[in-house]
Amino acid sequence: MTRMMRTSGGRLVRIRPVRLYPVLQPYVMQSLYPSYTDTAPPSTRDESTAARRPGRVTPQETPRQPEAQPLPNGQSYRVTSAPEHSLVTPQLARAVSEVLEPFAKANGFSAERPLDVTFGRGTLGLHRFKRAVDIYALGGKGLGQWAQEWNAAMCQAASASDPQKQAQQVTEEKARNLGFTLYKALQKHGGWAQPQGYPVQLFGPWTRSEGPHKAISDQLLHAHYDHIHVAM
Ligand SMILES: [Zn+2]
Repeated sequence: MTRMMRTSGGRLVRIRPVRLYPVLQPYVMQSLYPSYTDTAPPSTRDESTAARRPGRVTPQETPRQPEAQPLPNGQSYRVTSAPEHSLVTPQLARAVSEVLEPFAKANGFSAERPLDVTFGRGTLGLHRFKRAVDIYALGGKGLGQWAQEWNAAMCQAASASDPQKQAQQVTEEKARNLGFTLYKALQKHGGWAQPQGYPVQLFGPWTRSEGPHKAISDQLLHAHYDHIHVAM
């Protein structure tokens, strides 16, 4: 099966089928998570190698990880997943809430009618340092479903008779599709982790068409067909 993703410009981007392994292959994991191998992420690696000499390591020299906390509810959104699925550093928690709160409000959600946000537990790479979070559902609908609906809408728009109608359909889907709009809001916020030599750690179904890492591999894209991964 060949899967296609349409860009908002109507361009078709091919997603080649890849075999999904129960555990992703090491090269996928390494491009996904720079710290997949048993080393600390770059932000801590420099300090730890400088401090670490045999026999000289003391607890004081080991860089401390800020204490992780579950992502709290916002005013206009609430977290529906178990707390252990969104344990993150205070810095990442702050950044995610900075995106989610205005996003929920702008899309008509409120304290009376909050947006449901569902996280899934990530265990590898920057997740191990609580520096990454995976968003699996918005408004009770999975990110994979939002992506499929986006594709269908872009295909329909591409087949519209006149360019004006085409543009209108794209605009409507951009306003309606919470998965797409959250991805763009995260992208606009920026400041996400970019370890040296690795792409910006914002991945999801729209990464190839919208960036920031448009050169994302088929494998990496496939690994994010049903969630958004963001790290700081
Ligand atoms: Zn992740």
